[in-house]
Order: sequence, then C-alpha cells, then structure tokens
Amino acid sequence: IDEVDGNFVRTVKNCIFSKSIPTPLKGPLKLAAVSKDVIEGILDLDTAVTQSDDFLHYASGGRLLPGSIPLAHRYGGHQFGYWAGQLGDGRAHSLGQYINRKGEIWELQLKGSGKTPYSRSGDGRAVIRSSVREFLCSEAMHSLGVPTSRAASLIVSEEPVFRDQFYNGNVKTERGAVVLRLAKSWFRIGSLEVLSQSGEIDLLRKLLNFVIDEHFPSINSNDPDKYLVLYTTVVNETALLIAQWMSVGFTHGVCNTDNFSLLSITIDYGPFGFMESYDPNFIPNTSDDEGRYSIGAQANVGLFNLEKLLWALSPVLSNKQQREAKIILKGYVDIYQKRIHQIFKAKLGLLDEEEDDGYLIAFLLKMMEDTQSDFTMTFRQLSEASAEQLHNRDFTKMWALEELSSHKHFSDWLNMYLLRLSRQPNDNDADRQDRMKTVNPRYVLRNWMAEAAIRKTEMNDFSEVEQLHRVLSFPFITQETAEEAGYAARPPLWAKRLKVSCSS
Ligand code: AMP
Ligand code: MG
Ligand code: MG
Repeated sequence: IDEVDGNFVRTVKNCIFSKSIPTPLKGPLKLAAVSKDVIEGILDLDTAVTQSDDFLHYASGGRLLPGSIPLAHRYGGHQFGYWAGQLGDGRAHSLGQYINRKGEIWELQLKGSGKTPYSRSGDGRAVIRSSVREFLCSEAMHSLGVPTSRAASLIVSEEPVFRDQFYNGNVKTERGAVVLRLAKSWFRIGSLEVLSQSGEIDLLRKLLNFVIDEHFPSINSNDPDKYLVLYTTVVNETALLIAQWMSVGFTHGVCNTDNFSLLSITIDYGPFGFMESYDPNFIPNTSDDEGRYSIGAQANVGLFNLEKLLWALSPVLSNKQQREAKIILKGYVDIYQKRIHQIFKAKLGLLDEEEDDGYLIAFLLKMMEDTQSDFTMTFRQLSEASAEQLHNRDFTKMWALEELSSHKHFSDWLNMYLLRLSRQPNDNDADRQDRMKTVNPRYVLRNWMAEAAIRKTEMNDFSEVEQLHRVLSFPFITQETAEEAGYAARPPLWAKRLKVSCSS
C-alpha cells in the first residue's frame, strides 16, 4: 500500500494500492436499483436493510464501514493496442473483502465514488446512464450464465456531472451515480503489466503469489511451475469466456488489457452491446472507428491480451517456462474454436458429432448475415418451433424465422437441419426444444431497452430498471411483462439510431 496520503493525481511506484477516501455524492440520494440476489445470496443481508438511510451512505461512499480502508488499485494497460502507462482505479474504491456464509471471498467496490491518485484528468464520477447499464448488464450476464462481476445496488444523486452528451447543440448536464459492485477479485492483466513495465519484479512475484493463494486453490504454491500453471489457466478460461460472450452476442466494446480480468470474468461494463442483427463487424462503441473491438474481433483480441500477459509474466519465468508458455498460447485458438463449435451445436440442439455440423452452423450464420436476422430471436425461435412447424414453415408470430426464411437457400438449410435432427436416436423433439431453450435466451439487454430505463431513471422513475432487472434475471423463461414491453419483439425503429460512446 502506497503510504502517500490524499487523492491528488500522481505517478505511483512500488505499490499495488493507494489509500483513497471516497468523496460523498451531493444529495439527496436515492436507491434506484438493488439486486436481492447479491444482497441476500452473496452479502448475507436482508434486502430490507437497503431501504435505510445508512445503506444509501455506505453504498455510495458517504460513510465507511468500521474497519474499512478504501483503496484504489494501481494498474496499467494496453489501450487500443498501445501501452498507455499508469491507469488505475480513477473512479473506483475497493472497500474490502467479505467472506460470506458459503466461505466465498468477495471484494466490494464502489464505482463513481470520486477522485483517486489515478483519476488523471477525470472527475472520479460515473453518470446515471453508464451506471444503469453496468448494474443491469452485470446482473443480466450472471443470469445468462456468463462469468461476470456483480452489482449489488445503484444509487443516484443530485450531483451535476458534465459529459460530452449533446442535445440540440447544448451540453446536457447529467447526474452522478454510484454502483456497489462485487467480484471475487478485481485484478486485471494490467495489474501485472504495470509492475513489469516499471521493473518492480519482487512486487510482481508478491502479487502473483497472493492471487494464486487466494483465487487458484488448485495451484500448489510450492510448485516451481506455478506461474506457468496460472498462465495456462488464464489462457484456457479467457478462451472459454470469450466463447460464452459470442454465444449470447455480447460485445464488450473496450477489450483493453486493463479491462481483462485475471479471473477471466467480464468486468468494466462501458460501451458494450448485445448484437441484434447478425453481423460479425458489429461495433458497439461509436468511438471505436476502426472496429478493433468488433464482435468478430474479440477472440483475436483475447489472444493479443494474453500475449501481453505472457510478456508481463516473463520476468518470473525461466527461459524454458517462457518457451512452454508460448506453446500454451498457441493452443488458445484451438481451445476457443472447440468451445465455439460445442456452443453453437448446443444452440442448434445437436447431439453427438457429425462431419457436416460445422457446415450446418456456418451456413445458418451466413444466411443470418445476409438477411440481417436478429441473433437472439433467430436461435430462440428455432428452439420454440417444433420440428413439424419448421417442416411446414409455419412461422406465425415467429418474426425472426420469417425474416430468415426469405433467404434463397433457407429450404436447403432447413432440410439439412431437420434431417440432422432426425438422426439423433436418443432424442425427441420436445427434449430438443427444452435443451435449446436453456441455451438460447429470449431476453438480452438491448441498447434500446437500457435507454428506455435510463430515461426514466434520470427522471427518478425507477420502475423500468426494476422491470428490466426482473425480466433479465430469467432470460430463458417467457414472461408476460417482458412480452407486454416488447422485449422479445422486433426492435422499435428508434433503436436503430441509438449510439453509445465511451463517455460514461
Ligand atoms: P475504462 O475505459 O472505463 O476502462 O477506463 C479507463 C481508465 O480511465 C481507468 O483507469 C478508469 O479508472 C479511468 N476513468 C474513466 N473515467 C473516469 C473518470 N470519470 N474519472 C476518473 N477516471 C476515469
Ligand atoms: Mg474502472
Ligand atoms: Mg476499465
């Protein structure tokens, strides 16, 4: 821990954390959203406590829990391909760890809680807009089964925050918000990079030992190859994580090394997006002109980030271990492709393995690209349609399939698919549908849905955030309120004009 006190911006050396006291938000504060799942299931609290005035202060940085020493983490990172130097928690404070009833360790962090030594030119704040998105998406991703940080609460304030959001030529004043977020660990690839870059190798080793002891119980701390084993694990898990992102069309938007977790969970929700029309070039972040972080580039970017991780680990690896690590990294593409193949087979309800399975999947995706089919609903409706309905091309109310079926090769694909399904001896159509419905969500957090919730939240109406949070907690189950809100319908026209930027 950095011994220099105070939140003034500076270059910090020889430490992992700096002590940093949150700056309270200007009130009155309001609880805009809360995750019962996190409050009760992780924090062992009764959700009723979140209704208290105390909670508003504790969960937004205005008051500290007894014994809490809030810390800002020092890290660096490669941003858009280039080493960016020291970054660090510029607007986040770690409050401490909580070991819950299940024996799990969770690190509590506030985001938007004021300046730290790492704020650079930033104000240390997060606006309502980006905080609603982080709250909803963390919880939605968890319910989709994708490893992710979690969100316990969202508190909004009256503090004015200025961002580059223009409306009719005027700068719109936004308001500050704080998300109380949790992860087993917030360490990133950039946490190690900054130490290697500045030659702090003893500290690098110390941090690695800590991470291994605390989060990788299967790695023996006396194993001379332990850093290599850690690297192997991160390579593996990163490939699996990105495959899971792809399975639901999730596009992170800013896959810099400072946003890539050492535990291979999804962290730092910014200008993310769920792909709607199937398009490998889908770019959620309007500031990403070159499409470096397009959906189709994510697997490769994972590889780039893992190369940077290997570079950061090099000072603690022998030459032999470095050579082995390079071989491990070469295996990444294969791990990813195998997992993607399994995932898409499951999305189509395919059992066993047939030679043409890869072709069947690629054929469908090509048709989806040509017809700009909705990624989520095409797979969902393939799950909801019976083989008979498919055979008869009875797509009543199945808008995504109806669009897809306009493709000139649709019949060829459909025949091939139905034949493939008919060759599954230990399967029946109802089982196939049930299986597919557990991997093909009906509801994902589309930008237009988030936008509608944001607009209301900004007017202190929290009903839509609550409704979205509730619906997205059960993404695989058809729900009446979700249907009424049109969450499984063809996106409204105004959705196409929506843009998200890095500004948050
Ligand atoms: P991100 O693009 O959100 O991953 O952020 C990259 C870096 O910028 C991190 O070090 C953040 O802590 C920092 N940062 C982003 N927004 C702000 C802000 N408003 N104030 C201070 N630091 C910020
Ligand atoms: Mg951050
Ligand atoms: Mg970040």
